[in-house]
Amino acid sequence: MDTILFLAHTEPDGTLAKPALEALGVAVDLKQSLATTLIVGLYGAQTQPAANFLANCGAEKFLAVQGEPFSSARYASDAAACEALARAAAATIILAAETSRKARIAAGVAHRLGGVVDTHVTAITAESSGLQATRWFYRQRIEGRLTRTARPWLLLLDPGNHAAWAGEPGAATAEVLEVPVPESLNRTTVNGFVTPPADQQTIRPDADLLFVAGAGWTKKQKDGQPHVAEAEAIIVDFLSNAKASLGSSKSLVDLSGENQSALRFLTHLNQVGQTGASPRHPKGLATCCHGEEPHTVGWRFIGERRAINLDAGCGWARGKADVLYVADAFEVMTKVNALLDRK
Ligand SMILES: Cc1cc2nc3c(=O)[nH]c(=O)nc-3n(C[C@H](O)[C@H](O)[C@H](O)COP(=O)(O)OP(=O)(O)OC[C@H]3O[C@@H](n4cnc5c(N)ncnc54)[C@H](O)[C@@H]3O)c2cc1C
Repeated sequence: MDTILFLAHTEPDGTLAKPALEALGVAVDLKQSLATTLIVGLYGAQTQPAANFLANCGAEKFLAVQGEPFSSARYASDAAACEALARAAAATIILAAETSRKARIAAGVAHRLGGVVDTHVTAITAESSGLQATRWFYRQRIEGRLTRTARPWLLLLDPGNHAAWAGEPGAATAEVLEVPVPESLNRTTVNGFVTPPADQQTIRPDADLLFVAGAGWTKKQKDGQPHVAEAEAIIVDFLSNAKASLGSSKSLVDLSGENQSALRFLTHLNQVGQTGASPRHPKGLATCCHGEEPHTVGWRFIGERRAINLDAGCGWARGKADVLYVADAFEVMTKVNALLDRK
């Protein structure tokens, strides 16, 4: 019978982030359908707040690796902690959230355990034929289902696919494992993080709205001139007001590489489409973007779709959007910003 280990790193205050709670939701469901043992394994500077929060999740046991050496994302210490937790749990199925911190160590830990690993998993279910993991291939065009007999099987679960576990907190006592601090730790010291301020953080996976900027924002407008600086101001104003996530068409992000006037805050990471991302948001608004198939294919997980384009015959009008506003996006978004400012 399989033993499930839910593995998570804690945040600096000892709590768990949403992706970890989503992975726990999967682990709890799986425990119920397999009627098997669930063990919680936590590591970080402190783990007690997380253990207490999960006290009533149905886990038979709590294991922890804690202390300052395990506070930062660093291969040597993270891998040592996860290996120790997996061995102590004698786990055969190890579930964790696909965070960048976890993704860095997952393959190495699976190798140390003599096991196997799958990443970007969207679901894992118990079928009569065995456990089945689901994931997307080829930029979310093909959904694959796979099963493995090798154990331990480490699965990283992509965030946003399962409801976060929620339950009454309580008091849990974790068995604390003594993990020797790896010698290689001395080679890597974490001096801190350098991150852009929140208002420059344009990709926001949790946002309710995806705002897509197309190349039209940089094109000549009705006065025969481009208005790139004005476009930047309008878009930044809207993003900070609406807390929307910023997507882009390929043409627009490619412009900067061609030394043409472009919006400075866009990178290829913002690109939505066939050769870009397929983000998940309840709503989307495309502006100055033509709505060609290679772009709109990236909208497959967007709930309600709207677009603003001067051209009534653009791609959005051909079944790609629920609502198309045939209008000047400069004028519409300036008006929208004024309304949001007033709020
Ligand atoms: C193999 C392949 C892969 C590709 N992958 C991707 C991909 O992943 N993502 C992607 O986006 N594209 C991709 N493309 C490119 C795609 O086909 C289009 O060329 C691209 O999406 C066009 O970008 P755009 O709509 O921003 O620009 P344009 O086609 O130049 O459209 C600009 C639009 O802005 C409108 N406009 C201008 N001014 C205003 C205004 N004031 N108000 C309102 N509207 C205005 C115009 O009417 C026009 O419709 C791919 C192409 C190929 C061949």
